Amino acid sequence: MSPVAARAAIYARISSDREGDGLAIDRQLADCEQYAEQHGWRVVERYIDQDVSAYKSRVRPAYRRLLSDLRSGTIDGVIVYHLDRLHRLPRELEEFFDVCKAAGVDDLATVTGRINLADPDGQFQARILGAVAKKESDDKSRRIRRKHEQLAAEGKVSGGGTRAYGYAEDKRTVRPHEAAVIREVATRFLAGESVRSICATLNERGEPTSTGKQWSQQTLTRMLENPRYSGQRTHHGVIVAAAEWPAIISPAETERIRAKLCDPSRRTNKTARRYLLRGLLRCGLCGATLVARPRADGTRRYVCASGPGFGGCGRITITAEHVEAVVAEAALFRLDSPDLLASLQGRNEDPATAEWQAEADRAQAQLDELATAYADQLIGLQEWLTARGAIEARREVARKKLSALNRVTALDGYLGNASELRDEWSSIPLSRQTAIIAAVLDHAVIASATPGRNTLDPSRITFVWRG
Ligand SMILES: [Zn+2]
Repeated sequence: MSPVAARAAIYARISSDREGDGLAIDRQLADCEQYAEQHGWRVVERYIDQDVSAYKSRVRPAYRRLLSDLRSGTIDGVIVYHLDRLHRLPRELEEFFDVCKAAGVDDLATVTGRINLADPDGQFQARILGAVAKKESDDKSRRIRRKHEQLAAEGKVSGGGTRAYGYAEDKRTVRPHEAAVIREVATRFLAGESVRSICATLNERGEPTSTGKQWSQQTLTRMLENPRYSGQRTHHGVIVAAAEWPAIISPAETERIRAKLCDPSRRTNKTARRYLLRGLLRCGLCGATLVARPRADGTRRYVCASGPGFGGCGRITITAEHVEAVVAEAALFRLDSPDLLASLQGRNEDPATAEWQAEADRAQAQLDELATAYADQLIGLQEWLTARGAIEARREVARKKLSALNRVTALDGYLGNASELRDEWSSIPLSRQTAIIAAVLDHAVIASATPGRNTLDPSRITFVWRG
């Protein structure tokens, strides 16, 4: 990427959007001009499309002129307010890449960051950002979202997906035997029995889940905390209405179960749960795995930790919220790729997965406790390092087993169906979100921040995908 684009173009578009959420051209232009000024780009041409919606593929004269000027080599770089202004259809984006490549133009900037189009990672970023933009502004998804909201508000079942345990395929008719199991599970859990132990007895008795599998702690927990069983309709994890289907347990019971599940004393690996990308990020300078370490004000961060027992360079820090959003979106995007589908199809789920996950979680929880004990000066450095080695070895074994097993299990039901997963994403427990991301992402490398660059700079993240 050249240091500055000597001849930059600004592209702005306003759609005749009935939602009225199109940004005023003036505002788009002003922000782009400001970006150019700050980064030393000389703006030679402004391309403005009025009242055309990229989504509906209407002809956009200014955009066609931009492509034509790119082809003829009179432009070195393009600035847009946001990628959704430039393209909303993937094939348009691919055409844009082709034109840029042919013309040797590799600089694309949005007011939130710069993308190197000559680099496959840069193109990937553009695709992800384009997908995010599309999702946000797509008329169709908006209509579907509205429909889902309406169904939720009326307490109706949502279409698609597998049946919930305890109910028939119509998601309304109660299955008496399964309902009895649910009541039993709720009672035992509220009486203080652990999820692990309840799981074990269900499996011993040969009670299958709704998909005919063995119960895992995750499946059982998800069922326990689901307000559906007390006749409550949720939307994105929030209870919004009384459901049209009959309850199996009471809302008060669900509330008590949820309170109990959230009780920190019950959690063994609280820290691990709060950080979506634990173990998945590496330092771009020294290669060390980034660790979760909040700033003093509580801002969640991943850092390359230096000092005894860590061995990192200590020079990379990234805000968790930002990197988690981008990586999650990238993983969802990746889930829809035909390559991934092909590489995963035909593999079978292995019941050993839950066991290895539990082992890895236990080891991680112990490591967390040890690190805390060392930080609190309850144990010395030598004790810490000695104890840590053995636990890490256990965790490594479990992780290796898991990485082979987990990929298919984590993606169960979601392969090639990323849009459904996107809708449900925010209501999926963090540990499962991590498992899904880890199923497609080997790791991501985090580069150092460029001074003055917005914190939402996706070019800091390089993805190393599995498969
Ligand atoms: Zn480092």
